[in-house]
Amino acid sequence: MSRFLSSEARCLFPYTPGEQPRDQQYIKLNTNESPFPPSPEVLKAVTQTETGRLYLYSDPTCAALNGAIAERYGLQSENVITGNGSDEILAFAFRAFCGKGRGAAFADITYGFYEAQAALFGLEALRVPLREDFTLNIEDYINLSATVVIANPNAPTGMTVPVTDIRRLLEHDPNRVVIVDEAYVDFGAESCVPLIQEFENLLVTQTMSKSRSLAGGRIGFALGARELIEDLNRVKYSFNPYNVNRLSLLAGAAAVKDEDYFQACCRAVQDNRTWTMKALEVRGFTVLPSSANFIFAKSDRISGGELYRKLKENGILVRWFDRDRIRDFVRVTIGSREQMVVLIDTIDRIGLRNEK
Ligand SMILES: *Cc1c(COP(=O)(O)O)cnc(C)c1O
Repeated sequence: MSRFLSSEARCLFPYTPGEQPRDQQYIKLNTNESPFPPSPEVLKAVTQTETGRLYLYSDPTCAALNGAIAERYGLQSENVITGNGSDEILAFAFRAFCGKGRGAAFADITYGFYEAQAALFGLEALRVPLREDFTLNIEDYINLSATVVIANPNAPTGMTVPVTDIRRLLEHDPNRVVIVDEAYVDFGAESCVPLIQEFENLLVTQTMSKSRSLAGGRIGFALGARELIEDLNRVKYSFNPYNVNRLSLLAGAAAVKDEDYFQACCRAVQDNRTWTMKALEVRGFTVLPSSANFIFAKSDRISGGELYRKLKENGILVRWFDRDRIRDFVRVTIGSREQMVVLIDTIDRIGLRNEK
């Protein structure tokens, strides 16, 4: 920390990304990336010609990409904004829909970035505890004046809130924005996107980082009523008008148009998830129900921290959160079947095979 750091910046709460080690080859199951490469259409779209155009700014309106996203989700381009990852979109939304007298409300156990962004924008953060079983009780949010942010499916639990609950929240207070972060929705959860036509206070964010194998492309987007999207653009044009680079604009549009490849990847992840959950349960693990591309699991024979360390020693990275309520768990990204087989073999090797 330099002596020049502002008092505001001293109060920040920076997000800690999962490890990206370069010292050795790990099986990386710690940051919920896809185990599959991007669609072959993406490789074709990112041409040498376009690379040669990198001396020119990218399209600040992201017209072609927003058009492709709108078409995929049955909306108009005016209902779409794209960002440099959905983290950026979430930042725009926090800036746009929270402020003095309107804080941000989110679960006590959820995506760590909400906390970081609340601090960044000096917002009051209201942490609403999940129930004992990690389900979210919508009643807890009904009479809050804060802008609500719900990750659905949630991270790091993988559990979902029924869309009917979110509908209740939207109906109950039409004067308050509800942001539904659907980063993992493509892995088997119900989406709130169909509610957009009906509710002008609903903003849905999604990302191409997970289900479309483009984490390194940094492409996230929000869907919502035209006015909400206008508000987000107001923030975007105050921050970084050329927020999506030329290559990502092409990559994102190609990815969103290749429905077959997308479906195949999502199905493979879901199959591998079912397989892995069963394998862990047979070995005595408790695994939370998951609709995401990761599972949250614990064993009463090894602590979460110890399991994390033992797996790392054996070349497998998973995510462990040294935090109240979830310290016993590890979060494991669902990889390819080969990776999952190695994971289970390794768990057996480190002595967690069920002796029964
Ligand atoms: C991964 C993730 C995001 C953001 O991902 P980007 O790579 O910035 O698009 C947003 N919300 C949740 C809950 C996530 O897990």
